[in-house]
Amino acid sequence: MKLQLRNSTETFDVPRNLGVALLVIGKGDIVEPPPPAPRELNPQSHWSIVENLNPAGVPYTIYAKCDNCKNVASCSGPTAQKTMRYQHCGTVETVPTELAARYSRLIAQSQASQERPRRAPGTVSVI
Ligand SMILES: [Zn+2]
Repeated sequence: MKLQLRNSTETFDVPRNLGVALLVIGKGDIVEPPPPAPRELNPQSHWSIVENLNPAGVPYTIYAKCDNCKNVASCSGPTAQKTMRYQHCGTVETVPTELAARYSRLIAQSQASQERPRRAPGTVSVI
């Protein structure tokens, strides 16, 4: 612990037991160390959409990463652009508007292509 004499600005590092003993006999005050400076928060996030390689799964994933804290996050699904939250650097970000719109278009296109009939109308399968 640190001790400071009453009429001085000088501090002394002493074992806690000795410091407490000196305080008991009235020769000093406890000097608490200052709290650590808060870490500087400088969010530098980057967002992207990546096409998934697994054709059976969700077709696209939204990724976020930060150059400052190196935290990464990903989210996929039909409403990922609305529900994804990226917590880093003491902040919580949502998907940027332009990227969310692009993701919505990609999901809509993939759903439309799955709903289309695979055969041309009028064709018949022969087994
Ligand atoms: Zn960050």
